[in-house]
Amino acid sequence: MNKEAYLEYLKERKSSHKKNYYLLSLEELERIKKGYPIKPKLLLHACCAPCASWPLEFLSDHFEITLYYANSNIYPKEEYQKRRDELERFVQEVWNNKVSIVFPPYDNIAYTEKLAPYKDDPEGWERCFLCYRMRLEDTFAYAKENHYDFVSTVMTISRQKDSQKINEIGLDVQKKYPMIQYFVSDFKKNNGQVRRDELVKEYNLYHQDYCGCVYSYNERQKKLED
Ligand code: SF4
Repeated sequence: MNKEAYLEYLKERKSSHKKNYYLLSLEELERIKKGYPIKPKLLLHACCAPCASWPLEFLSDHFEITLYYANSNIYPKEEYQKRRDELERFVQEVWNNKVSIVFPPYDNIAYTEKLAPYKDDPEGWERCFLCYRMRLEDTFAYAKENHYDFVSTVMTISRQKDSQKINEIGLDVQKKYPMIQYFVSDFKKNNGQVRRDELVKEYNLYHQDYCGCVYSYNERQKKLED
C-alpha cells in the first residue's frame, strides 16, 4: 500500500472543499418532482436493514423503490443470511408491498479473491473503494437489464464510509450506463444518522459490529481478543 497517498487522502477527507451531496440530492429531488409525471423507478443498493431504514423514508415519496441486496462481500455466509433476513423482515413490517427486494447470487469466494490484493489496507482505503465499485457495478448492470431510471446506494449513511468517494464512484460507473442516472446522496446529513438510530431501536433491528468482508471480520475478532 502507498502510505503517502493514504495520508494525503486522510488529510483531504478532513478538508472543507468537499461537495455537499446532501444539498445536491435535495436539488435533484426537486427536479424529479417537476420533471416526472409518475414516480421514476429507483434501484437502491442496500447493505443491511439499519442502513436502509432512513434512506427508504427519505426517498419513498419521490421514487418507486426496489432494494438490491448485492453484498457478496459479507463473510461468513451466516452473517450474509442474517443481514438479509433482517432486511426482509424490516421491509415486510414497515413497507409491506410498497418496496420490493432483489437478491442477486451470493459468491463470497470470487468476491474475496478480487479484494485480496488489498487485504492489508486499512478500512476505508482502496480495498473499500473497490468494494463500493463492485457492488455499484452489479447494481447498475441489473438496473440496465430491468429498465430502472435511477441507481443509488444507502452506503452514504455510514459515518465510517466516505460519501465523497462513494458518490464519485457511483458517478463514474454511471458513465457506462447513459440511460440510467446515479442519484447522489449523503444520507447521514441533516440528522439522517439520528433517525437511523431511532429506527434501529423502534424495530429492534439487528446491528452488526463489523463492516462485512473477511478482513473486517478478522479485525473485529482481533479487537475482541485484545
Ligand atoms: S471493510 Fe467493508 S467496504 Fe471495506 S472492503 Fe470490507 S466489506 Fe467492503
